[in-house]
Amino acid sequence: MLRKTDVLIIGGGITGTGVARDLGLRGLETVVVERGRLADGATGNMHGLLHSGARYAVADPESATDCIEENRIIRDMASHCVDETGGYLVRLSDDDESYFERARRSCLDCGIDVEPVTVESVRDDCPQLTSDAERAFRVPDAVVHPFPLTIANAVGARERGGTIETHAEVVDVLLEDDAVVGAEVRHRGASGTEEIRADHVVNATGAWAEAVGAMAEVEIPMRPSKGVMVVVDFPSLDAVLNRCRPASDGDIVVPHEKTVVLGTTSAEIENPDDYPKTERETDLMAEVASEMVPDIATARVVRSYWGVRPLFGGTDADLEDGRALTRDFTLLDHEARDDRPGMTTIVGGKLTTYRQMAQAVADHVCSVLGVTEPCRTAKEPLPGRDDPDALRDALDEFGPLPPAEELASDVLRK
Ligand SMILES: Cc1cc2nc3c(=O)[nH]c(=O)nc-3n(C[C@H](O)[C@H](O)[C@H](O)COP(=O)(O)OP(=O)(O)OC[C@H]3O[C@@H](n4cnc5c(N)ncnc54)[C@H](O)[C@@H]3O)c2cc1C
Repeated sequence: MLRKTDVLIIGGGITGTGVARDLGLRGLETVVVERGRLADGATGNMHGLLHSGARYAVADPESATDCIEENRIIRDMASHCVDETGGYLVRLSDDDESYFERARRSCLDCGIDVEPVTVESVRDDCPQLTSDAERAFRVPDAVVHPFPLTIANAVGARERGGTIETHAEVVDVLLEDDAVVGAEVRHRGASGTEEIRADHVVNATGAWAEAVGAMAEVEIPMRPSKGVMVVVDFPSLDAVLNRCRPASDGDIVVPHEKTVVLGTTSAEIENPDDYPKTERETDLMAEVASEMVPDIATARVVRSYWGVRPLFGGTDADLEDGRALTRDFTLLDHEARDDRPGMTTIVGGKLTTYRQMAQAVADHVCSVLGVTEPCRTAKEPLPGRDDPDALRDALDEFGPLPPAEELASDVLRK
């Protein structure tokens, strides 16, 4: 079997589906191939925070600025995938007072709205906040639902003539005269493979980008970094809580219906398909979160899940702790970098900045293919925002829900 399309996108996470929708809106035909279900990778196994950028404002102001810009766009264009909870940065008595001030000022410098609040008023959203809390400010953090966001992008791509193939694994990249011309795809349950040829191939396989790069005979050194999230019963938190100190394990609590999601960690691993998951790491999440909210220590643990960040390799010094690597994304133009025309790789970033990443890829692919249509994704609402029925069938078609969404099935279908 042989198929031909304008752009073949490998990977059906938020990045791959976001690229497909963007290119579709510019008039290009796309095919997305995903080896499992949509959002099977980091996208369906993340913490659920639509970053305001406050967490990054001190250490990585560029990232923080990107986050707040994209946070505003997503809250508008994809309001049906977001719970507008707001969030707090909270300083406990042992935390550095000067860091609190630095964080507040850095947020303002990055354009993040900061509302000074009393610790008493934080208790309106979190009655069980520790008596040890001394200061807090409010930021426009929100809760994002990665599954409907991914589905909305997939539906948007389809509305523009795109095709979404799940359980379709790329097993080889097709090379002709040193150029990438497509990929060989194995469909679940089918005998043999299919060749999908394309004018351009986008490698959006996140932590698996290195393996797909090897198929195209280019080196993409990834430093995948695992993180754990622990879901506990806790109906009385209505906003995101961030511990106001330099980023460390377990310092964010995200409300999710009648539960909260505690997280997360960052530790480099070798293989994104097979890595150690220890009880010590899961226990640590409740230990650290209970410093902010003591009752979390005795709340019922519903389950835990793990995700792998698609971090691009950096210098040796960067590698000691995956968190030190920038969360900004990297676009690899393989023609310029490796003399391998026909393929672009996109790795890194955050779910919050997926639209900006997709725009960068689509701008690049369009310039290679001579397409001059501008990006429209910052202004065009995602399917389902104005017509709630638009996603209903697709949610069933692409389900069941990934770990990050299991508790929200009623919300997603209302
Ligand atoms: C623990 C953790 C917590 C996080 N929390 C947050 C947060 O709170 N807020 C935030 O903004 N971001 C967060 N992130 C970051 C965010 O989840 C990721 O940046 C984002 O989801 C990456 O999306 P992606 O599409 O690039 O990669 P992925 O979602 O990993 O998608 C890659 C896809 O490629 C597929 N694939 C791989 N190989 C092949 C192949 N050969 N053929 C076909 N398909 C293939 C995989 O199955 C996968 O579905 C978190 C990440 C982690 C790991």
